[in-house]
Amino acid sequence: MLTDTDNAAAVAEGFARKYRPRRFEDVVGQGSVVTFIANLIRRGKRRRDLLLHGSVGSGKTSLARIYGLALNCDAPQMSGSPCGGCASCLDPNRHFVEYDVPGSGGDQESIRRFLSTVTLEAPFGKVRVFFFDEAHRLDAFASDILLKRVEERNDNTVYVFATTEIERIRPALTSRLIALEVLPLGVDDAVSLLKRTADSEGIDIAPDALMMLAGLRQGYPRDLLTGLELAVDDDGGVITLDRVKEIFDIELDSLLAYLNAVAGADVEEQLRSIRLWRVSAAEKIRWIQAFLTSLYYNEILRVRLIVDAAIDSIGDAERHALIAAFERRLGTERVNFRSAWKRFLLFWQRAAEVPADDAAMNLQVALFHELVAEIAGSSAGVPSLPDQPVYDHRPVGNRLSQRSFSWLPPSLPVDADDECFTTADDVGTIINSASFLIQRYEKFFDLSVRFLPRYRGTPSVEDGTAIISDFCGGLVDLIRRGAGGGARVALMRVLEGEDASVRGYILAGLVSDQPVEISYLRQALVEWAKDYAEQYAGSYDVSVLASPSTKRAALRWHWEQVRNLCAGIDVSIVDADPRTGQPKPLHELVGLARSQLRLPQPLRISRISLSDEINAGAIAQASDYGMRPLFAFDEREWDVLASGWELHEYVERRRMIAKRKLEIRRTVLEFGQGTSLQIEAEAQLRLWWGDDPLRRARSRLGWWSR
Ligand SMILES: [Zn+2]
Repeated sequence: MLTDTDNAAAVAEGFARKYRPRRFEDVVGQGSVVTFIANLIRRGKRRRDLLLHGSVGSGKTSLARIYGLALNCDAPQMSGSPCGGCASCLDPNRHFVEYDVPGSGGDQESIRRFLSTVTLEAPFGKVRVFFFDEAHRLDAFASDILLKRVEERNDNTVYVFATTEIERIRPALTSRLIALEVLPLGVDDAVSLLKRTADSEGIDIAPDALMMLAGLRQGYPRDLLTGLELAVDDDGGVITLDRVKEIFDIELDSLLAYLNAVAGADVEEQLRSIRLWRVSAAEKIRWIQAFLTSLYYNEILRVRLIVDAAIDSIGDAERHALIAAFERRLGTERVNFRSAWKRFLLFWQRAAEVPADDAAMNLQVALFHELVAEIAGSSAGVPSLPDQPVYDHRPVGNRLSQRSFSWLPPSLPVDADDECFTTADDVGTIINSASFLIQRYEKFFDLSVRFLPRYRGTPSVEDGTAIISDFCGGLVDLIRRGAGGGARVALMRVLEGEDASVRGYILAGLVSDQPVEISYLRQALVEWAKDYAEQYAGSYDVSVLASPSTKRAALRWHWEQVRNLCAGIDVSIVDADPRTGQPKPLHELVGLARSQLRLPQPLRISRISLSDEINAGAIAQASDYGMRPLFAFDEREWDVLASGWELHEYVERRRMIAKRKLEIRRTVLEFGQGTSLQIEAEAQLRLWWGDDPLRRARSRLGWWSR
């Protein structure tokens, strides 16, 4: 416990500054980014030029400083962190040169002047770190000067850029840097950071007040600590929920009053509570959305979920009373309560997409009142939306097959002693998912990584699986954080047993739902994979291969790598050769030569894993609008497996989906969104489209109409 004077001094200094992390271990909630940077140190103080992006106060500067300190530390710790005691650590600004772009100028003159005044060279064995904060404020000329520096930098200089707006950084510069996103903290991490700080400051804070604070400050370390500082009671008393509400002007009472008025069908009271609520219209919508979502999960589905820490601080009594009031209003004997609530959520989700001012807010209030009245009044209750078609994994089976395939979900654990080879189902899953990647995203795999055990029997199957999973998880996370344009990574992983150990084959491809240029990330992806994989070099020989850059070569490479993932297949598996009608080994049908086959050992765990971009769930999602993907493997179209027909199908899919969306839009224009007539008309359309790809016109598909 600190004395009052200590406390006062700490507050004056600022918690955010006082508790700025000085070691990698102290950085809360940044998992793989911290691991990645710490690994650079552990693997021999690698110099990498970084681009850290994320919101104000998310900890970019702290990370850059720790990296800089560790590069120069005489005795870095095992974790990669600086020791904190050597001459370099005690003089942290000696080799760390910070340039604040908005403050010092983002034009070429300012940058030139700056570069001419600083010493670029560090003494032997030391690294000079140049840190450019708010780098999106650099103009094009200044960026080009720095780009040249980065390209020509020597080994004892490192450039780190930080920005809140990565999309405004010139792509030429971005492509030279390793981009890493510093994310807002999750609720758990935010709570633990606050708790830790409160404990070391001897601050007494009630658990519900802590939760509220964690939610209010949106998970940025600097804001969180400043928030805690503001909430500290001058008298040194306990920080209560009421105190936090008072200081941050939180009026959850207005939120409750409004929703209770909705349940009570009292329009005047609805408008009054909205008017008295002293936050912006956009904020009101956000609170309503968050609370309705929280009620949906916690009270209706009974799944414990923290949607928002502040919302979570609303007590059970209030929640239950509100739910009961809505049940009375809607009449649960007539109405499907859960479906009704989903429509509430949909309503506010749409409302949040429209720019909101007070007039618009009043309109939303009126419309929501009408929606509730409509649901409560309609004697038929809420018509349920037609379920999305679900891809059921069964092959289409329009031809005679020698084997009957019964598909397992790809991630179901296999638990049989004789499961040593890759099965026909496995091959189907691998090939179909690889085909889906092209028809859904117009993308090939960019990267192929192989983990081969260094020594016989080590690592164990458990350790090896953990290592390979860790790599995959880290890669997915790094790409999510590094990519500005919403790019994600589609990942396919196959495990095979080998002498009481396990080997892994991984394919990764960058995808994006938006039509943005993401190819510049390819090089970074390869670098990430290489740097990240090196931490496992003790147990595994890891090889990282990048795809060729021309489209034709990339297509060929894609299928070579995919086939290689199937190479553990049992030679005795046969299927029908459509040309002769005779059985033929499946490995030949899919284009694998006998010499390419491997002989895996038994493995009692799931061998194939697919990331959310290409797994069964993604395929089911892509099946909406009656557009279930086509699979040449399922249809035994062996000749076209690797022909690239999916590139045409990608175009066709987009065209068809756009057309069908328009047809649904017409029903909305005609009948109004969510009315029973509209829902019926939409269901009719969906029924008409069906979900059988064989019913679709295929005149445009070269591989089908051959
Ligand atoms: Zn040190």
